[in-house]
Amino acid sequence: MNLTTFDQLESRVRHYVHSFPTIFSKARGAQLWDENDRSYIDFFSGAGALNYGHNNHLLREKLIEYIESDGVVHGLDMATSAKGHFLQTFANVILKPRKMNYIMQFTGPTGANAVEAALKLARKIKKRSNVIAFTNGFHGVSMGALSATANAHFRSAAGVGLGNVTFMPYDGYFGPGVNTIDYLAKMLDDRGSGIDAPAAVIVETIQGEGGVRVASSTWLRELEKCCRRHDMLLIVDEIQVGCGRTGRFFSFEEAGIQPDIITLSKSLSAYGLPMAMVLMKPELDQWQPSEHNGTFRGNNLAFVTGAHALHCYWKNDELSESVRRKGELIQEWFERMASNHPEVGMRFRGRGFIYGLTITDVNSVTLKRVRNRPDQNIHRRIARLAFENGLIIEPTGAYDDVLKMLPPLVIEEDMLRQGLQILERSIAQSLQQPLGVVREEVLPFPELMHT
Ligand code: PLP
Repeated sequence: MNLTTFDQLESRVRHYVHSFPTIFSKARGAQLWDENDRSYIDFFSGAGALNYGHNNHLLREKLIEYIESDGVVHGLDMATSAKGHFLQTFANVILKPRKMNYIMQFTGPTGANAVEAALKLARKIKKRSNVIAFTNGFHGVSMGALSATANAHFRSAAGVGLGNVTFMPYDGYFGPGVNTIDYLAKMLDDRGSGIDAPAAVIVETIQGEGGVRVASSTWLRELEKCCRRHDMLLIVDEIQVGCGRTGRFFSFEEAGIQPDIITLSKSLSAYGLPMAMVLMKPELDQWQPSEHNGTFRGNNLAFVTGAHALHCYWKNDELSESVRRKGELIQEWFERMASNHPEVGMRFRGRGFIYGLTITDVNSVTLKRVRNRPDQNIHRRIARLAFENGLIIEPTGAYDDVLKMLPPLVIEEDMLRQGLQILERSIAQSLQQPLGVVREEVLPFPELMHT
């Protein structure tokens, strides 16, 4: 088999196969292997779905045991032993120690499904249609979630108007000198601002797809206060940066805020199995039975691995501590990189175990409008070279102008160092080659990928 099978039979909508043009056949921990037995270190982790690594054997064992016992696999939203065990484990290991009182709702298994449910519930409770979302936010590509997603590339595929959402500037949008909560508060306070009273605010504490933009704890606390003052529900989208990505289980814990609604997916099943959940404060559980439903809300295999991951990794601080240590290792690496390459501007942002690296050289400034050409976009070129050198890493942001580092939380320190070495080599190689001539028009995505 070769990639022409995919070119001929699969829709042009596919994306990652262009970034990583090989056929993967095996994966374990922080590594993937292709059909030619070439190994790759994974700094992408299924876009945050594989915090516990590929085929984590602790979880695999439980899964095989469950399958061999003919445990229920599909159960709509019926009560099953696996679901019951997940509910109890999540309550005992995650919620109770944090003094969090939330009801769990299992939605269809993707992140966008959880976002749809959260937005629908907030609008139903507050009987208002408007929702505040933020610049560079990403919440999924189904219609409701897409309306709260900022990126023009995704929005332009909708084919219908995407309404009922007002975008506001995220923390730092106008630079460090402007407090964007003051702007939001002024707009909400002013009856002349033109903004319909919102039912809710939906926010990521770190915008993963939007370019690893980090909201400060102070900003998040002020946002929470603003929600209380204006009777808006605070929805925190933890789909990418929850489940330990920032060191603690929830990324908002550091800020000490209490969201009304929380969306979780990606690494919730801990094994790459589809699963999504909405947490809501008990008084907000105002659904009528089956008012929001879906056939695949009871992925029992995901309940089994998800519960076991909580049991293995979240009963003590070991994982959080190792994430902190390895995060420091990445930060030290970056400081060395920046001092080794004073000829270009390198910036770095992130928290816990999600980091974004931006390289600004003379060319990439003028490249802002060109999205995906490896010959013209330095971040895409580095990712391409990294792939050739055996590392999976993706650029992110509206202009693919940030290299996102998202290794599995459980990566061994040695492998993390090896991955960083590959990245360093790829950056050095990339800086040696001049970028191509910039074409100034904005090209549609598929065209870019096929040229
Ligand atoms: N919300 C956030 C913060 C995300 O990062 C994503 C996906 O990257 C989603 C929602 C959508 O999740 P899914 O792709 O599973 O629909």
